[in-house]
Order: sequence, then C-alpha cells, then structure tokens
Amino acid sequence: MQTSKGMLVAIALSALACNALAQPVEIGGPPNIIFHRTNPHFEAGNPPAGSAGVITPAITYHGGPIMATPAAYLIWYGNWNQSNGSDTPAGQKIVTDFLFGLKGSPYYATNASYSGVSANFTVGGAYADNYSQGVNLTDRKVASIVSNAIGAGKLPKDGNGIYFVLTSSDVNETSGFCTRYCGWHTYGTVAGTNIKYSFVGNANRCLNACSMQTTGPNGNAGVDGMVSVIAHELEETQTDPNLNAWYDSSGYENADKCAWTFGQSLSQTSGGAFYNMTLATPAGGTRPFLIQRELDANSLCYVNYVTKAQ
Ligand SMILES: [Zn+2]
Repeated sequence: MQTSKGMLVAIALSALACNALAQPVEIGGPPNIIFHRTNPHFEAGNPPAGSAGVITPAITYHGGPIMATPAAYLIWYGNWNQSNGSDTPAGQKIVTDFLFGLKGSPYYATNASYSGVSANFTVGGAYADNYSQGVNLTDRKVASIVSNAIGAGKLPKDGNGIYFVLTSSDVNETSGFCTRYCGWHTYGTVAGTNIKYSFVGNANRCLNACSMQTTGPNGNAGVDGMVSVIAHELEETQTDPNLNAWYDSSGYENADKCAWTFGQSLSQTSGGAFYNMTLATPAGGTRPFLIQRELDANSLCYVNYVTKAQ
C-alpha cells in the first residue's frame, strides 16, 4: 500500500535523528520518499485494463512548484555490462530508446494537462557508478550516489534535473525494493541546489512484484518492467517535485492512481509479451512497451491523450 504523507513525515523525522550521529552528508531529504508500490495483482498473461472513469479521490493542487520541461539524468549503478541477462548494453538501450520515444508522445501528452507542465523533457547525460555504495543500498546511500556523481563533476548540478539511479539486478535497496515498492522519488539539497532524484530497481529481481509479465516486449523482462516505473517516477516528479504540488487526499500522486493498469487495448508480440504502445526510436524504427496509464489533471487515466484512449 501507499505510505501516507503523515507516515512519511514520521519516517523522515526518525531518519534525521539518526543522521545527526552519522557523518556529514552533502544531500538532505531522504527518506521522505514517495513509493511506487509493488504490483498488487500479478497474474502473468493478464495485465489489468483499469477503470475507464474518474479515479477518486480526485487529485488536487497544493500550491508547490512543478517542473515544466526537466532534464533527466541516468546513473547506471552496478554492472550494466553483462553479456546476458537483464543488465546489458542492450538493456540500457531499451531505456534510452524509451525516453527518446516518450517525450512528446501521445501518452506523455497527458502530463501537459497539469498547468505549466509540458509533455517534454530532455535527457541531460548519463554516468556509470561501479558499486561505489556496494550491493545493499539504503535510501541514504542512494542519495550519496547522486550527490557524489554531481560533486565529482560526472553530471551537472541541475535544479531542473531528475536524477535516476538505475540498478543492475544484483543490487538491492533495503528499505523495501521488491517488497514494498519498485521505485521512488524525492528531493534533497546538494551544495545549495534543490536536486530531484529517483531510485528505480531492476525488476529482474522480482518480476512478480515489479513487472506485469515474465517476458518483455523487447525481450528483456527486467528492463521492460523498469521502464514503466521510470515513466511513473518521471510523471510524479514533474507534477510533484517537492512533494507539495499535485497529490490526492490519501497522499497518492498522479501515477500512483493509475499504477498497474494498462488500458483497454493490448497487443502481444510473437513471443507472447503484452504491450500497449509503440514509440519511435532514434534509429527511425519503433519499439513496443507495456507502460502503466498516466493520470491527467481531471483524474482520468490515459494510454493515449490524443485519441483519449483510457
Ligand atoms: Zn508513485
């Protein structure tokens, strides 16, 4: 289940108490994190369509800033240079192709229904971190991965950025990856700048919790599962970067309200994997993806905001 904002505050306060005894850190914020909960109804071969009506309680605006057209930064954590499995250069290409096709797509146009938010973003750079914090990450270690990448000049310090920590499948996040959540986003301060960042774990660790199927439309079940979580965290960070803009009375952000639903019209690859959209690739082709629906400002979940397919 989604953790409420009140519980998150309590968790954050207890963490701050611990941090007072720990070494000084460059980044503030975690673990005031917003979870993308695990799949509550995994049934391989049967992705749920989801309701075609308004998702209640309605999402409302709470006055905080939004991100109009952010820059996404990718931190490939662990070892993404395996020759087989999910953690491969081909797996990385699924992610970068996905982000290329996502921006400005009929699916992501849903985001432009929030005042001031665009359907676009840029990809600002990428960096590989070779296990600098080990294989058992805490929320604090994820923060360190981001602040260290910025501090070392590997990625720019960008207050309009969203830094994604994408882990290889041998890496755990001990606050609840695969048991409570599949990813999360939050913010913190790095050298005086408000930095938004997100953890997205490798779904190959737990396909029944963090994917909708055991195969992927691009032949990589783990990464094909991750990209839906990346879309989720990107949508939420744009509309609620400081956790004080768009969320409902239960503390659910926009993507939470459509999580693990995929629309009325699914297709299958020759390999049997489901997908609900095809997106353009930089090479001029297309790729199929199974991506959760996205909530608009009127609390309706969409797969395609141009045809209004729910
Ligand atoms: Zn979420």
